[in-house]
Amino acid sequence: MSTKWVYQFNEGNAEMRNLLGGKGANLAEMTGLGLPIPQGFTVTTEACTNYYDCGENISDEVQGQIFDAMKALENIQGKEFGDLEDPLLVSVRSGARVSMPGMMDTILNLGLNDVAVEGFAKKTGNPRFAYDSYRRFIQMFADVVKEVDKAKFEAVLDEMKEAKGAKFDTDLTADDLKEVIVRYKEIYKSELGEDFPQEPKEQLLEAIKAVFRSWDNPRAIYYRRMNDIPGDWGTAVNVQTMVFGNMGDTSGTGVAFTRNPSTGEKQIYGEYLINAQGEDVVAGVRTPQPITRLKEDLPECYEQFMQIAKTLEDHYRDMQDMEFTIQEGKLYFLQTRNGKRTAPAALRIACELVDEGMITKEEAVSRIEAKALDQLLHPRFDPEAIKAAVPIGEALPASPGAATGKVYFTAETAKLHHEAGEKVILVRLETSPEDIEGMHAAEGILTARGGMTSHAAVVARGMGTACVAGCGDIQLDEEKGLFILGGKTVREGDYISIDGSTGKVYYGEIRTIPATISGNFDRIMTWADEIRTLKVRTNADTPADALNAVKFGAEGIGLCRTEHMFFDAERIPKIRRMILSRTKEAREIALNQLIPYQKKDFKELYEVMEGKPVTIRFLDPPLHEFLPTTLEEISALAKDMNVTVEEINMTRASLHEFNPMMGHRGCRLAVTYPEIAKMQTRAVMEAAIEVKQEKGFDIVPEIMIPLVGEKKELQFVKNVVVETAEKVKAYYESDIDYHIGTMIEIPRAALLANEIAEEAEFFSFGTNDLTQMTFGFSRDDAGKFLEAYYDNKIYESDPFAKLDQDGVGQLIAMAAEKGRKTRPDIKLGICGEHGGDPASVEFCHKVGLNYVSCSPYRVPIARLAAAQAALNDKQ
Ligand code: PEP
Ligand code: MG
Repeated sequence: MSTKWVYQFNEGNAEMRNLLGGKGANLAEMTGLGLPIPQGFTVTTEACTNYYDCGENISDEVQGQIFDAMKALENIQGKEFGDLEDPLLVSVRSGARVSMPGMMDTILNLGLNDVAVEGFAKKTGNPRFAYDSYRRFIQMFADVVKEVDKAKFEAVLDEMKEAKGAKFDTDLTADDLKEVIVRYKEIYKSELGEDFPQEPKEQLLEAIKAVFRSWDNPRAIYYRRMNDIPGDWGTAVNVQTMVFGNMGDTSGTGVAFTRNPSTGEKQIYGEYLINAQGEDVVAGVRTPQPITRLKEDLPECYEQFMQIAKTLEDHYRDMQDMEFTIQEGKLYFLQTRNGKRTAPAALRIACELVDEGMITKEEAVSRIEAKALDQLLHPRFDPEAIKAAVPIGEALPASPGAATGKVYFTAETAKLHHEAGEKVILVRLETSPEDIEGMHAAEGILTARGGMTSHAAVVARGMGTACVAGCGDIQLDEEKGLFILGGKTVREGDYISIDGSTGKVYYGEIRTIPATISGNFDRIMTWADEIRTLKVRTNADTPADALNAVKFGAEGIGLCRTEHMFFDAERIPKIRRMILSRTKEAREIALNQLIPYQKKDFKELYEVMEGKPVTIRFLDPPLHEFLPTTLEEISALAKDMNVTVEEINMTRASLHEFNPMMGHRGCRLAVTYPEIAKMQTRAVMEAAIEVKQEKGFDIVPEIMIPLVGEKKELQFVKNVVVETAEKVKAYYESDIDYHIGTMIEIPRAALLANEIAEEAEFFSFGTNDLTQMTFGFSRDDAGKFLEAYYDNKIYESDPFAKLDQDGVGQLIAMAAEKGRKTRPDIKLGICGEHGGDPASVEFCHKVGLNYVSCSPYRVPIARLAAAQAALNDKQ
């Protein structure tokens, strides 16, 4: 049987999301529920993939099915597509498996041309509306399909408004709009060298192609990378009969949520605009009315709207984000989807749905996006500092959190200054999807236009970035690089602070403090902990970090990077002295001076961790990282060591390496200088024994040897560790147990994991180095060229952030299996950055690691991701 590429809305259902995309599947489901949905059809995600496979062409077979579906739609609507007197008009919209708001393209009013618009004007008895629809169509088609800058069209509209003394678009007459259309078509022709297409079938195919293409536009690629969406999913295209919210004062269009997407409160929440089309609300060009006003304006529509909203929430058992249009008093739903929400709202909604008996605890856990928990950990203003601050303005509290930073007016400058290490607040008239990277770089976003569902608000909320939107009092002069608010002139580079929870805007920098977490968070986390099998540890080198991580639920330390303990002012001269020592004896003297510091650090860590496992990794970086670089420091060190500056410089030169990441580092240091491993072993063991004796915690130190690639290498260092540890035990007359393991971070170690496991009691996958060495990408430099790899669709995401399951993942799975074969009870963990990335955590669960270890602030994310991995496993 040939493939079915196109489905009428009455042929699908919500289960068919992968094929029909989220929007298409929900439109089909709502059709099945008998709700008022303008009918249409969905061209499948498979057709999108097919389009790319055919060299960016819609095959004859797919085209045939599209036009058959159009015929069927004509029958349903009793109108013909392309008819000159009463044309069937459609919208063409993207709809991927998961919603990607604003990332892809939409075209409205398709099917109009120079003749049909006249018929349409007559038929509707509303010429102003007909010409307005046509001019919008030309503008959208030129912008989306042909990539003509829409500013060129907007300038014409603005000129016309000025010439006619019109304040709003709606003040322009039919004749004014006819003139606009003439000028629009002139722009179209001069920009593209061809006439605006008059044939509706051609318009339709071109529009569908444009939506397919938009799957691969740079902002969609960026969004997918940020949200772990695979590039081969493709987007579906929905072709839907137009209904019009711009037919006068009994028409309108809006978006609404069944619960408040910022707080989670159970209450209808939304906005609408009378006499407008959908893009006016979403783009935030006009500031809309709250949905409750609909009760006064059109009470019957309001009642029906409320009832359908409830039906939808009950049906999907989740908060819904709905788009609707009222055409001359008749209500239509254009889409529904599970609404995007802030993390606090997500937790509250999930907990309340459990309390309402709508969903199970497992469903609640599976619904919280693990990465979104980041938002809960957001800063707020220091209450003392904010007391003294006087706001210069106030607008909509669009996305919670406090932010302070320097003002920049374009996404590009915001991104550049962020990369230069500045904290940035992006200030825009309104944002659009092209601004995504600048928004991502910003601590906070302030817009002059737009409501709570404007692009800025929705996107900032999704990213967990503070946002104040619709600040109409702002006088913004982007060209001069300044704005005036509350009588204050703020220039590019000046500090401002915004509070996305109150909507207030302040001049200057205000101190922020970390967030506190609500009871809903604890409930969800407790449920997650009941479900997950993977343990979660933290990477921490200081007692303060470790304590913080324990508060976030860390069950141990998976990586303590001991080198970080040597960088403070008192200690660094001592390690430098050790490095510059010429003899073993001199080195030992220097190392002995370091023991008290290391021991003190370890004791504090053990105390904070109260008997939870602590993995201490021995010295790892190339030694030159510790050496002085300024003449001042070099002279001080020379004086301290009683040597000349030249001698120090000679040692520095001798330590120079062409490729330090593959140089004298990791266990190679202990192979050449076993006394380093001795010193660290003494410190670890003495600290553990003393804390065990003093506090009664059951401590079993875990000593981790880095950068091992060969069993004999590990054996060598292990011998040093065991010999020293046994001496310490004898001295203290202690029977303390301890474990020695290794990192697996060199491909050779993964390949020979069966042999290495003969010596190692545990493996911890160091996926930072393992990624670096598997790809051959320097972990410090890859950022410079990865962008080109994304642009050319060679790699979809940064392998240092999201584990490369195909390549590096194979090494992990293989090493885990080989390790277990040799030593069935070997403990397996991961301590590379991937340990806090949800997709990577799921992979770790799948290959059967015992724990993941990540930075303290990511511990809750890993706990939730681990629970979700366990739930996915069960399905
Ligand atoms: C690793 O390589 O993954 C690791 C955790 O060690 P580091 O980042 O310190 O090299
Ligand atoms: Mg490493």
